[in-house]
Amino acid sequence: MRVTRSTCPYCGVGCGVLIESRGARIVGVRGDPDHPANHGRLCTKGSTLHLSAEPSRQAATRLLQPMLRHDRASPPATTSWDAALDHTAQRLADIVQRHGPQAVGFYVSGQLLTEDYYVLHKLARGLIGTPHIDSNSRLCMSSAVVGYKQTLGADAVPTCYEDLDHADCVFIAGSNTAWAHPVLFRRLDAARARRPSMRVIVVDPRRTDTASVADLHLALQPGTDVMLWHGLLHLMIRHGWIDADYLAAHTQGFAELRALVQDYPPELVAQVCGLQPDDLLTAARWFAGVPDGWPAGVALPRAQRLRTLSLYCQGLNQSSSGTAKNVGLINLHLACGQIGRAGAGPFSLTGQPNAMGGREVGAMATLLSGHRDIANPRDRAEIAALWGLLPGVDLPAQAGLTAVEMFEAAAQGRLKALWIACTNPAQSLPDQTTVRRALRQVEFVVVQEAYATATTCAWADVLLPAATWAEKEGTVTNSERRISRVRAAVPPPAGPLGEGPWPDWRIAAAVGQRLQALLPPRAGGSMFAYATAEEVWNEHRRSTIGRDLDIGGLSYALLEHGPQQWPYPVGAAQGRPRLYEDGRFATADGRARLLALPYESPAEERDERYPYALLTGRLRDQWHGMTRTGTVESLFGHAAEPCVDLHPQDMAEAGLTDGDLVRVRSRRGQIVLPARPSPDVGRRQCFIPMHWGGEYLGGLHADEGLARGVNALTVPATCPRSRQPELKHTAVRIEAAHLP
Ligand code: SF4
Repeated sequence: MRVTRSTCPYCGVGCGVLIESRGARIVGVRGDPDHPANHGRLCTKGSTLHLSAEPSRQAATRLLQPMLRHDRASPPATTSWDAALDHTAQRLADIVQRHGPQAVGFYVSGQLLTEDYYVLHKLARGLIGTPHIDSNSRLCMSSAVVGYKQTLGADAVPTCYEDLDHADCVFIAGSNTAWAHPVLFRRLDAARARRPSMRVIVVDPRRTDTASVADLHLALQPGTDVMLWHGLLHLMIRHGWIDADYLAAHTQGFAELRALVQDYPPELVAQVCGLQPDDLLTAARWFAGVPDGWPAGVALPRAQRLRTLSLYCQGLNQSSSGTAKNVGLINLHLACGQIGRAGAGPFSLTGQPNAMGGREVGAMATLLSGHRDIANPRDRAEIAALWGLLPGVDLPAQAGLTAVEMFEAAAQGRLKALWIACTNPAQSLPDQTTVRRALRQVEFVVVQEAYATATTCAWADVLLPAATWAEKEGTVTNSERRISRVRAAVPPPAGPLGEGPWPDWRIAAAVGQRLQALLPPRAGGSMFAYATAEEVWNEHRRSTIGRDLDIGGLSYALLEHGPQQWPYPVGAAQGRPRLYEDGRFATADGRARLLALPYESPAEERDERYPYALLTGRLRDQWHGMTRTGTVESLFGHAAEPCVDLHPQDMAEAGLTDGDLVRVRSRRGQIVLPARPSPDVGRRQCFIPMHWGGEYLGGLHADEGLARGVNALTVPATCPRSRQPELKHTAVRIEAAHLP
């Protein structure tokens, strides 16, 4: 039996795994005791990875051979790699020549490895010259990116997992860590057991498993987080709990923020958020790090302040106020000096395994490689030179269309080709009616995927089968900036015509080589002559040298000794676990920015016609669209089917009992699900998991215009700064369903 050291492909905790294989078969998975993210622990999803990789479980859905469809009325036909790649390059070249490079959009994924991301980005912006490349990380991380950049000056998480061992207060906001980042939550449990004085505050409308163990659960009304942050700062200022010395030495903008939060007194905040004023005061005191018994009116020196670490995720990010929610929380950290020391800081958790890697290579509409600025000509020129572009050939100077915008543009006929890699927009994007109109409207859809999904089955003109976890080489970056190797334990399975799936970077490079020969010259030599993932990695790390995320020194050879955190410049002895310990931030003057962004209510408020707030989210034992976890029977023991959670009183008032089918209707669509009473959900709120995408529709999905799953309902509103969609608040109504 062979043992291969790799990384779990599910969540952003980035646990190390040991893959046990015999021949071409994976027979077991264990936690890697030497990996610093998990020290040998795995959650239910990670520990069943080997089951999801069994050929018998994959037989029905694994994509093994390229497929082509010459017209939308015909079923796709199996073809050779050469034929599929030639056809893809020809169609793209034709569309670029007829409509220009901006007619092509790339929609990629935080499931991709950094090397995959890098080549797809180079293909889009470098060779084709389209600015339109965005990632499904837009749906999970873009508010955090903008929040960090606008306050601390760089898209860099300033904290690390080890901070849990030093924190006196852990403030968890918009994150059901117990389910979405289970191994990290166990680490929190262990830290609490060692330090019983630690306090945990959870901010979440629902009483999740995470909230159920909190010392203080602030069950706020959905979408009112910014109101709460400003109310807490108001109290901290009123009681003299801010760190005036830290603010004066290391920040800018406090005067404006102070003026703003005067309008957020606790009485108002308690009323809007649906919270108790006493709880607000307790939360403000604990967050600020005021020791019990500290005398009123006496300034609290930094050395005696207790330490607060905040963990936050989609509850903040997936909002039409996503950036304001991130910024408001970071404001609290800066105002109390709760940053730049062990156990303190704003820690945005990444949802996907490599959301961070996509940010590093710049494969998002608003980013450029190595944390460069698209609008900066020198930044663009550096990447153009690295990619060997001809003198005078520039990269697109403007941001591209973001995820929701891209599909809206396609639905309006403004995009002619879509290349979708490793993601399933026909399930996961909001407002599925528009998404499906977009997929129908575009002339040419390329889908690069490992498994059959709603997107591959119905919409792909070319299907390029991708190698998946345990079949390919590369790297991922987890929530704490730690880069780990992903290694192939087995070869990809063979296809019916011979060679089966390819690594994603190789697919993109093969099309790139063909397309380069068809388009007018933009580069002197071949842009995609990579033989291995390591060659891609080496080019990527050159793009980071001298930037805040410098990983110039981080070779594959060095990663053989274990994962490392960035920055890791040439000559470094180790990565840096914590940032800003010297009080100097990544802004031009070294000062962090406090931003005064007012509270705004959710984009679609509840009213008489749509009186419920719909919240969406993950279940403990499933991952995304269940292409892998959905093949493992034991993972349905926790939740066997999708349902809508409703408060028992709301159900009683509507005459509903457990298991009754209800129609959940929004302004965009409707789905039918069993109702389940749950006291963990607030009144006039409901919760539907994101994982299912078509069942329980009672035949309503026969029309392709009527979308499936919870995203038939969700609102396409986005945060104006981050363009992240509001997946945590849609106004809906609930009706008893009478199916034919
Ligand atoms: Fe995988 Fe996340 Fe579970 Fe770790 S916590 S085993 S990374 S799913």
